Amino acid sequence: CGQCLSVCPTGALTEVSNVRKVWKALHSDKTVIVQTAPAVRVALGEMFGMEPGTVVTGKMVTALRKLGFDMIFDTNFAADLTIVEEANEFVERMKGNGKLPILTSCCPGWVNFMEQQFSDMIDIPSTCKSPHEMFGAIAKSYLCEKLNIKPEDMVVVSVMPCIAKKFEAARPELEHKGASDVDMVITTRELASMIKEAGIHFTELPDDDFDDPMGESTGAGAIFGATGGVIEATVRTAYETLTGKELEKLEFTDLRGLTGIKETTVKIGDREVRIAVANGLGNTRKLLNKVKSGEEKFDAIEVMACPGGCIGGGGQPFHHGDISILKRRAEGIYSVDHNKKLRKSHENPKIIELYETYLGEVAGPRAHELLHTSYTAKPKL
Ligand code: SF4
Repeated sequence: CGQCLSVCPTGALTEVSNVRKVWKALHSDKTVIVQTAPAVRVALGEMFGMEPGTVVTGKMVTALRKLGFDMIFDTNFAADLTIVEEANEFVERMKGNGKLPILTSCCPGWVNFMEQQFSDMIDIPSTCKSPHEMFGAIAKSYLCEKLNIKPEDMVVVSVMPCIAKKFEAARPELEHKGASDVDMVITTRELASMIKEAGIHFTELPDDDFDDPMGESTGAGAIFGATGGVIEATVRTAYETLTGKELEKLEFTDLRGLTGIKETTVKIGDREVRIAVANGLGNTRKLLNKVKSGEEKFDAIEVMACPGGCIGGGGQPFHHGDISILKRRAEGIYSVDHNKKLRKSHENPKIIELYETYLGEVAGPRAHELLHTSYTAKPKL
Protein backbone atom coordinates (compact mmCIF):
# COMPACT_ATOMS: atom_id res chain seq x y z
CA CYS A 1 0.00 0.00 0.00
CA GLY A 2 1.04 3.64 -0.37
CA GLN A 3 1.65 3.92 3.36
CA CYS A 4 3.90 0.84 3.35
CA LEU A 5 5.75 2.04 0.27
CA SER A 6 6.66 5.28 1.97
CA VAL A 7 7.65 3.84 5.35
CA CYS A 8 9.62 0.70 4.47
CA PRO A 9 13.11 1.86 5.42
CA THR A 10 14.98 -0.79 3.50
CA GLY A 11 13.01 -0.33 0.29
CA ALA A 12 12.06 -4.00 0.20
CA LEU A 13 8.47 -3.16 -0.69
CA THR A 14 9.32 -1.09 -3.72
CA GLU A 15 12.03 -3.12 -5.42
CA VAL A 16 12.33 -2.48 -9.14
CA SER A 17 14.72 -4.63 -11.18
CA ASN A 18 17.61 -2.82 -12.86
CA VAL A 19 18.79 -5.84 -14.85
CA ARG A 20 17.52 -4.54 -18.24
CA LYS A 21 19.15 -1.15 -17.65
CA VAL A 22 22.49 -2.83 -16.87
CA TRP A 23 22.31 -5.03 -20.00
CA LYS A 24 21.59 -1.88 -22.04
CA ALA A 25 24.60 -0.09 -20.54
CA LEU A 26 26.80 -3.12 -21.26
CA HIS A 27 25.80 -2.91 -24.92
CA SER A 28 26.51 0.84 -25.10
CA ASP A 29 29.80 2.51 -26.00
CA LYS A 30 30.28 3.82 -22.44
CA THR A 31 32.91 2.50 -20.02
CA VAL A 32 30.89 0.36 -17.62
CA ILE A 33 32.58 -0.43 -14.32
CA VAL A 34 31.21 -2.53 -11.48
CA GLN A 35 31.85 -2.82 -7.74
CA THR A 36 30.76 -5.66 -5.45
CA ALA A 37 29.85 -5.26 -1.77
CA PRO A 38 31.49 -7.37 0.97
CA ALA A 39 28.35 -9.46 1.67
CA VAL A 40 27.71 -10.45 -1.96
CA ARG A 41 30.69 -12.84 -2.22
CA VAL A 42 29.55 -15.00 0.72
CA ALA A 43 25.99 -15.49 -0.57
CA LEU A 44 26.10 -15.42 -4.40
CA GLY A 45 27.18 -19.10 -4.54
CA GLU A 46 23.89 -20.11 -2.87
CA MET A 47 22.06 -19.12 -6.08
CA PHE A 48 24.09 -21.85 -7.83
CA GLY A 49 23.65 -24.59 -5.23
CA MET A 50 26.80 -23.86 -3.23
CA GLU A 51 26.87 -23.88 0.57
CA PRO A 52 25.99 -20.61 2.40
CA GLY A 53 29.13 -18.72 3.41
CA THR A 54 31.25 -20.13 0.54
CA VAL A 55 33.57 -17.29 -0.50
CA VAL A 56 33.19 -17.01 -4.30
CA THR A 57 35.11 -13.77 -4.89
CA GLY A 58 37.30 -15.11 -7.75
CA LYS A 59 34.41 -16.80 -9.61
CA MET A 60 32.29 -13.66 -9.19
CA VAL A 61 35.00 -11.51 -10.79
CA THR A 62 35.30 -13.95 -13.71
CA ALA A 63 31.51 -13.96 -14.18
CA LEU A 64 31.40 -10.14 -14.20
CA ARG A 65 34.11 -10.06 -16.88
CA LYS A 66 32.18 -12.57 -18.97
CA LEU A 67 29.07 -10.41 -18.64
CA GLY A 68 31.04 -7.62 -20.32
CA PHE A 69 31.95 -5.14 -17.59
CA ASP A 70 35.03 -3.13 -18.58
CA MET A 71 36.58 -3.05 -15.13
CA ILE A 72 35.75 -4.99 -11.97
CA PHE A 73 36.37 -3.34 -8.60
CA ASP A 74 35.75 -4.00 -4.95
CA THR A 75 33.48 -2.04 -2.60
CA ASN A 76 35.80 -3.35 0.16
CA PHE A 77 38.36 -0.82 -1.15
CA ALA A 78 35.82 1.94 -0.57
CA ALA A 79 34.91 0.47 2.82
CA ASP A 80 38.55 1.04 3.78
CA LEU A 81 38.22 4.62 2.55
CA THR A 82 35.04 5.07 4.62
CA ILE A 83 36.82 3.82 7.71
CA VAL A 84 39.74 6.21 7.27
CA GLU A 85 37.32 9.17 7.08
CA GLU A 86 34.91 7.89 9.75
CA ALA A 87 37.64 6.94 12.26
CA ASN A 88 39.08 10.43 11.82
CA GLU A 89 35.65 11.93 12.54
CA PHE A 90 35.34 9.73 15.64
CA VAL A 91 38.79 10.73 16.87
CA GLU A 92 38.02 14.43 16.35
CA ARG A 93 34.76 14.12 18.28
CA MET A 94 36.57 12.31 21.11
CA LYS A 95 38.94 15.27 21.25
CA GLY A 96 35.90 17.53 21.80
CA ASN A 97 35.32 18.64 18.21
CA GLY A 98 31.71 17.51 17.81
CA LYS A 99 29.05 15.50 19.57
CA LEU A 100 29.18 11.93 20.86
CA PRO A 101 28.01 9.30 20.32
CA ILE A 102 28.94 9.13 16.67
CA LEU A 103 26.49 6.93 14.75
CA THR A 104 27.53 4.99 11.65
CA SER A 105 25.98 6.12 8.37
CA CYS A 106 26.70 3.42 5.81
CA CYS A 107 23.25 1.78 5.91
CA PRO A 108 20.61 3.65 3.87
CA GLY A 109 17.80 1.71 5.55
CA TRP A 110 18.96 3.19 8.85
CA VAL A 111 19.55 6.66 7.35
CA ASN A 112 15.93 6.74 6.04
CA PHE A 113 14.69 5.58 9.45
CA MET A 114 16.80 8.17 11.28
CA GLU A 115 15.60 11.04 9.06
CA GLN A 116 11.97 10.11 9.77
CA GLN A 117 11.94 8.66 13.28
CA PHE A 118 14.92 10.29 15.02
CA SER A 119 15.25 13.58 13.15
CA ASP A 120 16.10 15.32 16.44
CA MET A 121 19.38 13.32 16.38
CA ILE A 122 20.26 14.32 12.81
CA ASP A 123 23.49 16.03 13.89
CA ILE A 124 25.15 12.93 15.35
CA PRO A 125 25.49 10.37 12.55
CA SER A 126 28.83 10.41 10.78
CA THR A 127 28.73 12.57 7.65
CA CYS A 128 30.58 9.86 5.69
CA LYS A 129 28.86 8.60 2.56
CA SER A 130 28.40 4.84 2.42
CA PRO A 131 31.25 2.85 0.79
CA HIS A 132 29.56 2.28 -2.59
CA GLU A 133 28.75 6.01 -2.85
CA MET A 134 32.34 6.91 -1.96
CA PHE A 135 33.42 4.44 -4.64
CA GLY A 136 31.20 6.17 -7.23
CA ALA A 137 32.50 9.62 -6.31
CA ILE A 138 36.13 8.47 -6.58
CA ALA A 139 35.48 6.54 -9.81
CA LYS A 140 33.96 9.60 -11.50
CA SER A 141 36.82 11.88 -10.45
CA TYR A 142 40.13 10.13 -9.66
CA LEU A 143 39.60 7.06 -11.88
CA CYS A 144 38.23 9.08 -14.81
CA GLU A 145 41.31 11.30 -14.61
CA LYS A 146 43.58 8.23 -14.53
CA LEU A 147 41.78 6.62 -17.50
CA ASN A 148 41.50 9.94 -19.33
CA ILE A 149 37.74 9.65 -19.85
CA LYS A 150 34.90 12.04 -19.07
CA PRO A 151 32.66 11.19 -16.07
CA GLU A 152 29.61 11.31 -18.36
CA ASP A 153 31.16 8.51 -20.44
CA MET A 154 31.44 6.22 -17.41
CA VAL A 155 28.62 4.11 -15.95
CA VAL A 156 29.08 2.94 -12.34
CA VAL A 157 27.14 -0.19 -11.38
CA SER A 158 26.97 -1.44 -7.78
CA VAL A 159 26.22 -5.07 -6.91
CA MET A 160 24.73 -4.90 -3.43
CA PRO A 161 23.03 -7.19 -0.91
CA CYS A 162 20.60 -4.34 -0.41
CA ILE A 163 17.45 -2.92 -1.95
CA ALA A 164 17.68 0.40 -0.06
CA LYS A 165 20.92 1.12 -1.95
CA LYS A 166 18.80 1.64 -5.09
CA PHE A 167 17.02 4.53 -3.36
CA GLU A 168 20.23 5.78 -1.79
CA ALA A 169 21.85 6.10 -5.23
CA ALA A 170 19.04 8.49 -6.23
CA ARG A 171 19.34 10.77 -3.16
CA PRO A 172 19.85 14.40 -4.25
CA GLU A 173 22.29 14.81 -1.31
CA LEU A 174 24.57 12.31 -3.10
CA GLU A 175 24.80 14.09 -6.42
CA HIS A 176 28.12 15.63 -7.38
CA LYS A 177 28.20 18.33 -10.07
CA GLY A 178 24.64 17.36 -11.06
CA ALA A 179 25.33 13.64 -11.54
CA SER A 180 24.79 10.65 -9.27
CA ASP A 181 27.89 8.97 -7.84
CA VAL A 182 26.38 5.56 -8.70
CA ASP A 183 24.28 5.08 -11.83
CA MET A 184 22.69 1.68 -11.22
CA VAL A 185 22.37 -0.77 -8.35
CA ILE A 186 21.60 -4.46 -8.77
CA THR A 187 21.21 -6.96 -5.96
CA THR A 188 22.98 -10.27 -5.39
CA ARG A 189 19.86 -12.02 -6.72
CA GLU A 190 19.79 -9.81 -9.83
CA LEU A 191 23.47 -10.54 -10.54
CA ALA A 192 22.73 -14.26 -10.25
CA SER A 193 19.84 -13.88 -12.72
CA MET A 194 22.16 -12.14 -15.22
CA ILE A 195 24.76 -14.89 -14.87
CA LYS A 196 22.06 -17.52 -15.50
CA GLU A 197 20.59 -15.55 -18.40
CA ALA A 198 24.04 -15.41 -20.02
CA GLY A 199 24.34 -19.21 -19.74
CA ILE A 200 27.49 -18.99 -17.59
CA HIS A 201 28.23 -22.13 -15.53
CA PHE A 202 29.16 -20.30 -12.35
CA THR A 203 30.45 -23.24 -10.30
CA GLU A 204 32.89 -24.22 -13.07
CA LEU A 205 34.47 -20.77 -13.44
CA PRO A 206 38.15 -20.21 -12.64
CA ASP A 207 39.12 -17.45 -10.21
CA ASP A 208 40.13 -13.98 -11.34
CA ASP A 209 41.32 -10.86 -9.48
CA PHE A 210 39.82 -7.40 -9.15
CA ASP A 211 41.30 -4.62 -11.25
CA ASP A 212 43.73 -1.97 -10.08
CA PRO A 213 43.63 0.53 -8.30
CA MET A 214 40.22 0.22 -6.63
CA GLY A 215 40.36 -3.53 -6.12
CA GLU A 216 42.79 -3.67 -3.19
CA SER A 217 41.32 -4.02 0.30
CA THR A 218 42.08 -5.02 3.88
CA GLY A 219 40.27 -7.35 6.25
CA ALA A 220 38.65 -4.33 7.91
CA GLY A 221 36.85 -3.53 4.65
CA ALA A 222 35.56 -7.12 4.45
CA ILE A 223 33.86 -7.18 7.86
CA PHE A 224 31.51 -4.32 6.88
CA GLY A 225 29.19 -7.06 5.63
CA ALA A 226 28.29 -8.42 9.08
CA THR A 227 26.63 -6.70 12.05
CA GLY A 228 29.30 -5.13 14.29
CA GLY A 229 31.91 -5.09 11.53
CA VAL A 230 31.78 -1.40 10.68
CA ILE A 231 32.43 -0.28 14.23
CA GLU A 232 35.09 -2.99 14.74
CA ALA A 233 36.90 -1.71 11.65
CA THR A 234 36.54 1.90 12.90
CA VAL A 235 38.01 1.04 16.30
CA ARG A 236 41.00 -0.73 14.68
CA THR A 237 41.93 2.54 12.96
CA ALA A 238 40.81 5.02 15.68
CA TYR A 239 42.86 3.17 18.32
CA GLU A 240 46.09 3.47 16.35
CA THR A 241 45.38 7.09 15.35
CA LEU A 242 44.73 8.17 18.94
CA THR A 243 47.47 6.21 20.71
CA GLY A 244 50.14 5.98 18.00
CA LYS A 245 50.55 2.36 19.14
CA GLU A 246 49.86 -0.87 17.31
CA LEU A 247 46.57 -2.55 18.19
CA GLU A 248 47.56 -6.10 19.04
CA LYS A 249 44.20 -7.85 19.31
CA LEU A 250 42.18 -6.98 16.24
CA GLU A 251 39.05 -9.03 16.91
CA PHE A 252 36.34 -7.44 19.06
CA THR A 253 34.29 -10.56 19.62
CA ASP A 254 31.77 -8.82 21.95
CA LEU A 255 30.63 -6.85 18.90
CA ARG A 256 30.14 -9.93 16.70
CA GLY A 257 27.19 -12.32 16.44
CA LEU A 258 23.43 -11.99 16.01
CA THR A 259 22.43 -10.59 19.43
CA GLY A 260 20.06 -7.60 19.07
CA ILE A 261 22.10 -5.07 21.03
CA LYS A 262 25.80 -5.64 21.67
CA GLU A 263 28.22 -3.52 23.64
CA THR A 264 31.81 -3.40 24.80
CA THR A 265 34.29 -1.05 26.41
CA VAL A 266 37.66 -0.49 24.77
CA LYS A 267 40.56 1.18 26.55
CA ILE A 268 42.06 3.71 24.16
CA GLY A 269 44.95 5.52 25.85
CA ASP A 270 43.64 6.46 29.28
CA ARG A 271 40.04 6.57 28.13
CA GLU A 272 37.37 3.88 28.47
CA VAL A 273 35.45 4.08 25.19
CA ARG A 274 31.93 2.62 25.19
CA ILE A 275 30.76 1.08 21.93
CA ALA A 276 27.33 -0.36 21.03
CA VAL A 277 25.89 -2.15 18.02
CA ALA A 278 22.18 -2.15 17.15
CA ASN A 279 21.28 -5.15 14.99
CA GLY A 280 17.98 -4.38 13.20
CA LEU A 281 15.73 -1.31 13.45
CA GLY A 282 13.59 -2.52 16.39
CA ASN A 283 16.73 -2.77 18.52
CA THR A 284 17.91 0.59 17.17
CA ARG A 285 14.74 2.29 18.41
CA LYS A 286 15.15 0.73 21.87
CA LEU A 287 18.81 1.71 22.11
CA LEU A 288 18.42 5.28 20.83
CA ASN A 289 15.49 5.95 23.19
CA LYS A 290 17.76 4.95 26.07
CA VAL A 291 20.51 7.24 24.77
CA LYS A 292 18.03 10.12 24.41
CA SER A 293 16.68 9.65 27.94
CA GLY A 294 20.22 9.54 29.37
CA GLU A 295 19.75 5.96 30.62
CA GLU A 296 22.67 4.83 28.42
CA LYS A 297 25.81 6.66 27.35
CA PHE A 298 28.00 5.51 24.46
CA ASP A 299 30.82 7.03 22.44
CA ALA A 300 30.00 5.22 19.19
CA ILE A 301 27.06 3.20 17.92
CA GLU A 302 26.81 1.09 14.78
CA VAL A 303 23.36 0.69 13.28
CA MET A 304 22.37 -1.80 10.59
CA ALA A 305 18.75 -2.05 9.48
CA CYS A 306 18.78 -5.72 8.49
CA PRO A 307 19.14 -8.37 11.19
CA GLY A 308 22.64 -9.80 10.83
CA GLY A 309 23.75 -6.73 8.85
CA CYS A 310 24.21 -6.80 5.07
CA ILE A 311 24.69 -10.59 5.00
CA GLY A 312 20.94 -10.68 5.73
CA GLY A 313 20.06 -7.84 3.31
CA GLY A 314 16.86 -7.77 1.27
CA GLY A 315 18.76 -8.31 -2.00
CA GLN A 316 20.49 -11.51 -0.88
CA PRO A 317 19.34 -15.05 -1.71
CA PHE A 318 16.30 -15.71 0.49
CA HIS A 319 17.19 -17.34 3.80
CA HIS A 320 13.58 -17.68 5.02
CA GLY A 321 14.51 -16.82 8.60
CA ASP A 322 17.10 -19.62 8.81
CA ILE A 323 19.61 -18.13 11.24
CA SER A 324 22.16 -20.87 10.48
CA ILE A 325 22.48 -19.42 6.95
CA LEU A 326 23.30 -15.96 8.36
CA LYS A 327 25.84 -17.49 10.73
CA ARG A 328 27.59 -19.28 7.87
CA ARG A 329 27.66 -16.12 5.75
CA ALA A 330 29.18 -14.26 8.73
CA GLU A 331 31.82 -16.99 9.08
CA GLY A 332 32.64 -16.48 5.39
CA ILE A 333 33.06 -12.73 5.98
CA TYR A 334 35.34 -13.24 8.98
CA SER A 335 37.41 -15.79 7.04
CA VAL A 336 38.07 -13.14 4.38
CA ASP A 337 39.33 -10.80 7.14
CA HIS A 338 41.39 -13.52 8.80
CA ASN A 339 43.11 -14.49 5.54
CA LYS A 340 44.15 -10.94 4.59
CA LYS A 341 47.73 -9.82 5.19
CA LEU A 342 46.51 -6.29 5.94
CA ARG A 343 43.58 -6.01 8.34
CA LYS A 344 43.44 -2.28 9.14
CA SER A 345 41.98 0.17 6.63
CA HIS A 346 44.62 2.87 7.09
CA GLU A 347 47.27 0.34 5.96
CA ASN A 348 45.70 -0.20 2.51
CA PRO A 349 48.48 0.94 0.13
CA LYS A 350 45.99 2.00 -2.56
CA ILE A 351 44.13 4.18 -0.05
CA ILE A 352 47.42 5.76 1.06
CA GLU A 353 48.24 6.41 -2.62
CA LEU A 354 44.77 7.92 -3.22
CA TYR A 355 45.31 10.48 -0.43
CA GLU A 356 48.91 11.19 -1.46
CA THR A 357 48.22 11.70 -5.15
CA TYR A 358 44.65 13.00 -5.27
CA LEU A 359 42.62 13.64 -2.11
CA GLY A 360 45.23 15.37 0.03
CA GLU A 361 44.48 15.35 3.76
CA VAL A 362 42.01 13.00 5.45
CA ALA A 363 38.86 15.15 5.94
CA GLY A 364 40.50 17.87 3.85
CA PRO A 365 38.53 20.01 1.35
CA ARG A 366 38.60 17.51 -1.53
CA ALA A 367 37.75 14.58 0.75
CA HIS A 368 34.83 16.58 2.13
CA GLU A 369 33.54 17.48 -1.31
CA LEU A 370 33.65 13.88 -2.57
CA LEU A 371 33.22 11.64 0.46
CA HIS A 372 30.82 13.34 2.86
CA THR A 373 27.09 14.05 2.78
CA SER A 374 24.23 15.61 4.76
CA TYR A 375 20.85 14.46 6.04
CA THR A 376 17.37 15.94 5.82
CA ALA A 377 14.74 15.73 8.58
CA LYS A 378 11.54 14.22 7.21
CA PRO A 379 8.04 14.08 8.69
CA LYS A 380 7.20 11.01 10.81
CA LEU A 381 4.67 8.86 8.99
FE1 SF4 B 1 21.16 -2.44 3.09
FE2 SF4 B 1 22.96 -3.59 4.67
FE3 SF4 B 1 21.43 -1.62 5.59
FE4 SF4 B 1 20.32 -3.96 5.08
S1 SF4 B 1 21.90 -3.56 6.64
S2 SF4 B 1 19.50 -1.95 4.50
S3 SF4 B 1 21.54 -4.64 3.31
S4 SF4 B 1 22.99 -1.47 3.97
